Amino acid sequence: MQRTIVVALGGNAILRPSQRGTAQDQLANVRTTCESIACMVKEGYRVVITHGNGPQVGNILIQNLHSQDLVPAMPLDVCGAKSQGLIGYMIQQALHNELVKEGINTPVVTVLTQVVVDENDPAFKNPTKPIGPFYTEEEALRLAEERGETWKEDSGRGWRKVVPSPLPVEIFERDAIGVLIKEGTVVIAAGGGGIPVVRKGNALFGIEAVIDKDLASSKLAMDIKADTLLILTDVERVAINYRTPSETYLTEITVDEAKKYMDEGHFSAGSMGPKVQAAVNFAASGGTSIIASLNRSLDALKGKSGTRITL
Ligand code: ADP
Ligand code: MG
Repeated sequence: MQRTIVVALGGNAILRPSQRGTAQDQLANVRTTCESIACMVKEGYRVVITHGNGPQVGNILIQNLHSQDLVPAMPLDVCGAKSQGLIGYMIQQALHNELVKEGINTPVVTVLTQVVVDENDPAFKNPTKPIGPFYTEEEALRLAEERGETWKEDSGRGWRKVVPSPLPVEIFERDAIGVLIKEGTVVIAAGGGGIPVVRKGNALFGIEAVIDKDLASSKLAMDIKADTLLILTDVERVAINYRTPSETYLTEITVDEAKKYMDEGHFSAGSMGPKVQAAVNFAASGGTSIIASLNRSLDALKGKSGTRITL
């Protein structure tokens, strides 16, 4: 029986903080990432790839801002769809090229993914996720007033719009993704956590929000009954007492241990927190979750790197 793995790629898989973000920069990073993913396919895994989109959506919003007198600006859901397309294209092509080198004919397909959220999610009353370019305080307060948006000062760097980060309720395209996986296709899905939509009757509508990509990946992994959720980021393992003298890296923990550490506040809200929560959600349903470094993904699958969370 072939094992199914959901590989959630962090920001550094596509763009490093020091890079400008040219197409060449991004494609070069994606190529490196795809070398490891091709090995997983070669080893017989059915693979679903999910990914973040923060820098890419940020850049699309900057393009919006500077060309709005020439071309109408697009809402955030449409920008999210654009980012799924651009990142999906790069992964599709780079992974195909790696697979061909190995003599593997597996097709690779991107599924534009909508994720249903609940309009009554408390996140809509308390927007927390900063997006897009930095503005001056004066501009930010004017836009907040004019558009009824929430703007916040972001760690001394300027003012940014903040949007709600509701929980993923339903990966709308999950059945189609499941069919593709069973047919042996590598699927790229839920990019950027998916395009947030709300349901009104039987219809779907885009909504201004950002869904956490790790939580969406965990949901998708459960929906398609994956065996493993592999969350790849820029640290080798999850730590407790992170960046303190008693910092300890974790190799294998249970769901209950992970929950205890979460309650004790070891994992930051915007970064490691949602990864551990996503890993716990998936492991609680019986799967194996691994949080590991992008550079050690194959070792992590063999238990030689990363933090493994199981029931
Ligand atoms: P990604 O783009 O992969 O989602 P994030 O920046 O959101 O990456 O999350 C990874 C970061 O989480 C690491 O670079 C690390 O600095 C930070 N982090 C916060 N708390 C911890 C912890 N307890 N153990 C390990 N890393 C942590
Ligand atoms: Mg992150």
